[in-house]
Amino acid sequence: MSVLDIHVLGSPVLRQETTPVSGVTDDLRRLIDDMFETMYAARGIGLAAPQVGRRERVTVIDVSRDKSAGQPIALINPEIVLEEGSARGEEGCLSIPEVFGDVDRAARVIVHAIDRDDQPFEIEGADLLSRCLQHEIDHLHGKLFIDYLSILKRRAALAKWDEQKVKYPALTRAVVPVSVIAGRRDPEET
Ligand code: ZN
Repeated sequence: MSVLDIHVLGSPVLRQETTPVSGVTDDLRRLIDDMFETMYAARGIGLAAPQVGRRERVTVIDVSRDKSAGQPIALINPEIVLEEGSARGEEGCLSIPEVFGDVDRAARVIVHAIDRDDQPFEIEGADLLSRCLQHEIDHLHGKLFIDYLSILKRRAALAKWDEQKVKYPALTRAVVPVSVIAGRRDPEET
């Protein structure tokens, strides 16, 4: 498995519509594995294919954050079939580092998707999982959380991003796994 570079705001792929997957292949499973690896390395709770420069309609989620106790969910061609209630919460995005904002989302969603074995499944999400599902599915349609902010808050978020984006002249960020930063190898990797 490999840790992939993450595309940041300004990279055109983040604004493009993805292509539905028409059959799970070994290549797609490899992409899913790499996306999980990248998400955990970046300490994220969700990652969508456009964020690693890909056009497949696929996203990975693990709201437990902790790889060892994780509940990894891979969703291929996910579709929200039910939304209920409303909840406001703070969001950030691996593609817009250091920028956060409050977003109103449905409090509960039901999503239909295909799993990595090409089987259809249904997942119900509340609280953080609901928010994460909506955020990631938005990515698959070129939409970002900053799009939901009021004009003033969006302006403030983009001003913050202006300070950050100079770090990413290639519009990608290399993810350094936390275990490497801490000067040790992840025991599971050795
Ligand atoms: Zn995001």
